Amino acid sequence: DVPVPGAGGTRFDLEKETELRFEVEAGERVQLELLTGLAEVFGSELNRNKKYTFGPGSKIAVFTWQGCGVCLYGKTEVAYVSKDTPMLLYLNTHAALEQMRRLAERDNERGPRVMVVGPTDVGKSTVCRLLLSYAVRLGRRPTLVELDVGQSGVSVPGTMSALCIERPADVEEGFSVQAPLVFHFGSTSPGTNIKLYNKLTSSLAEVFSQRCEVNRKASVGGCIINTCGWVKGSGYQALVHCASAFEVDVVLVLDQERLYNELKRDLPHFVRVVLLPKSGGVVERSKECRRETRDEKIREYFYGFRGVSFYPHAFDVRFSDVRIYKIGAPSIPDSCLPLGMSQDDTQLKLVPVTPGRDLTHHVLSVSCAEDGEEGSRRGVVESPVCGFIVVTAVDTQAQVMTVLSPAPRPLPRHTLLIMDIRFIDLK
Ligand code: ADP
Repeated sequence: DVPVPGAGGTRFDLEKETELRFEVEAGERVQLELLTGLAEVFGSELNRNKKYTFGPGSKIAVFTWQGCGVCLYGKTEVAYVSKDTPMLLYLNTHAALEQMRRLAERDNERGPRVMVVGPTDVGKSTVCRLLLSYAVRLGRRPTLVELDVGQSGVSVPGTMSALCIERPADVEEGFSVQAPLVFHFGSTSPGTNIKLYNKLTSSLAEVFSQRCEVNRKASVGGCIINTCGWVKGSGYQALVHCASAFEVDVVLVLDQERLYNELKRDLPHFVRVVLLPKSGGVVERSKECRRETRDEKIREYFYGFRGVSFYPHAFDVRFSDVRIYKIGAPSIPDSCLPLGMSQDDTQLKLVPVTPGRDLTHHVLSVSCAEDGEEGSRRGVVESPVCGFIVVTAVDTQAQVMTVLSPAPRPLPRHTLLIMDIRFIDLK
């Protein structure tokens, strides 16, 4: 009793270990329905006879281990079935990590800490999502560490974060983001302040290790670290730093043999460095496409995601009620640095920002640091953030700015950190 797809639907019958790849056209939506058999999207199982909706620009793979029949409704840019996927290798990787968790459980040790690296658009985030969903489906509680400041899967762009994974990613919306630990980085490229980037990587590692000490499940579950696609120069050094800060046991290198060889050479011998192919389905995204994804991520933060609408608040904030900082002063030649000060100090310095019209459209992080804590300057830089606001207007005469905020006034804290990132609120 196979249901017949309605008007406009296209049916695909997939053999075992194949996947249907499709992209949703700009301005369109596509629905996916599993008719027979079993299938999954990036590690999350599909329910039968439920229509999953994917928005414009989505790039999806429906993979089946056993074979299945699915139906697509709506306008796809491409839709094709591929027999050539690295899924078996990814599953084997998962199995090896699971074996490490079992041993950790038995021997009262910690579970695998895994760093996923590779250039942009090789499917790093997708591999992370897959491994996390498979682990959680077996009852594990792994942690996702998101270091990709350009395309964060956890919070708005310009942040670095950690999230305990308690259930598989939602097919349409990804991982449920409850109570993540988020740090303000401030821009979409680690290169704008590599010292801060490395510092926050260390902070995340420290918090994660502390959690592992008190939470056995978190310790056994281990972590999967998603990184940036910048793998040369300081970007490469940042990967080496991350490996050491988190004391990673496994590095998965996607698609780049050179990077694989470099890491094998530079990381301690007990770190297992594994080269994995990228999936042929991973689509290269243009700069424009990345920018749109970032914008969308901020919009979601304020307005919610499809089914769930949020209603953000707009209110005025007096300049005198807040303190706005930028992290990092522009670097100055070593010879001009005051005695006893190093370049590190300038990059981690809190620089007060005088509010003016150029604040308009900037995203600001609301620091969790207690008001008054900026006296201990390091306190603010290394404090997590409790949320974000966007400056929608500035009135220099009245000395107030209008902000868009997820919560009504007043702001929970008064120390704000400015991002390079702008968001134009069109609603
Ligand atoms: P990276 O993290 O390396 O930049 P992503 O994991 O974000 O790469 O993947 C880039 C894009 O490709 C994403 O939109 C993702 O949904 C898509 N994608 C990943 N794997 C596949 C696949 N097998 N088939 C189709 N699209 C895929």
